Amino acid sequence: MYDTPALREQFPILQTTVQGKPLIYLDSAATSQKPREVIESMNRYYYESNANVHRGIHTLSERATQAYEGVRKKVVRFINASSVREIIYTRNTTEGINLLANTWGRATLTSKDAVLITGMEHHSNIVPWQILQQQLGFELRHVPVTDGGELDLDALPRLLDSKVKLFSFVHVSNVLGTINPVEMLVRQAHEVGALVHIDGAQSVPHMPVDVQALGCDFLSFSSHKMCGPTGFGIFWGRRELLQEMPPFFGGGDMISVVSLEQGSTWAELPHKFEAGTPSIAEAIGLGAAIDFLSELGMDNVRQHEIELTTYAMEALSEVPGIRFLGPLDPHKKGGVATFTLEGVHPHDIAATLDEQGIAIRAGHHCAQPLHERFGIPASARASFYLYNEPSEVDALVVGLRKAQALYAL
Ligand code: PMP
Repeated sequence: MYDTPALREQFPILQTTVQGKPLIYLDSAATSQKPREVIESMNRYYYESNANVHRGIHTLSERATQAYEGVRKKVVRFINASSVREIIYTRNTTEGINLLANTWGRATLTSKDAVLITGMEHHSNIVPWQILQQQLGFELRHVPVTDGGELDLDALPRLLDSKVKLFSFVHVSNVLGTINPVEMLVRQAHEVGALVHIDGAQSVPHMPVDVQALGCDFLSFSSHKMCGPTGFGIFWGRRELLQEMPPFFGGGDMISVVSLEQGSTWAELPHKFEAGTPSIAEAIGLGAAIDFLSELGMDNVRQHEIELTTYAMEALSEVPGIRFLGPLDPHKKGGVATFTLEGVHPHDIAATLDEQGIAIRAGHHCAQPLHERFGIPASARASFYLYNEPSEVDALVVGLRKAQALYAL
């Protein structure tokens, strides 16, 4: 394991204060903080190598291109992909899913087909399918969620039939923390001939993810939740599938030949899906984040979160009137504790905690259908990452008791 206090020193923002109090950042599921090396890798690029990629035959452009393209190899190793051709640069998870819907989805789905999602999806894995459904008229089904916050696997046989062409589901729920049984779900989907897309926004940053071991066909995730910068993400797909898919955005860089008379042909993978000048500094920042995480070891990151979540669930259980959403067993979930507190609105919880320098998230966390399922409009979520410590959980508990004293009595 690693030394958390020493690790925290690498995150400049964790040394700052909020409302005059030392910052306690428990909102990493929304976005993670960034270590100095990630920030500096981007600064270095701007200071020393800034140029457009793939275009110029000059030293800076070649340097920028090498750094930018080199990150693909790091991503390949990080998720155990087969080739850099499978690594598509996007802006975030949301763009990855929209890419899948608008390329594979638009080219494949008809009114005779169905797409299966689940009742615990982030809006980014619901809305792109609803938009497409309105245009193509396929059926959009979802796997219900149990009272315990897990997928209702008993419902799967009636939902997963040969009409289903894609099963797209979240690996780790951003609200419940539930870790879904990906390998088993992939096997069942493949048995009926459906492809599988995994929303890895909350898994790739927190645990080892091996696309070949999982057996999935597509995976999307965001750099900003894994110590990297905003505005950057990865869409991974099996090469033979990507090869067949039409492009997403059109423009410079994604073409082979453009002719006004004969039309255009597309660049080889992965560039077919990457139109226009990309987020170069951000790619380099993600590369530095992957180096940082790899050095720590993703098994260690996961272990740290299990230990901290175990501590948190025990400590939070002592707060009267707390009701958790999702699994209680830290081995069955990611590093989140999502709850309601009797008599205190989640926004009042968050505001009271903020006065004490504690950042948590309150609201529906872009998962309105899931909150509807549990009959509540909003919840409060404390989410942990590799830099959080038990003393921060203690401060959260004190803060919740304060909110209770202020609002619930
Ligand atoms: N899926 C899940 C499970 C998420 O937690 C998030 C971010 N909250 C997203 C998708 C969307 O990620 P982004 O906003 O980076 O596209």
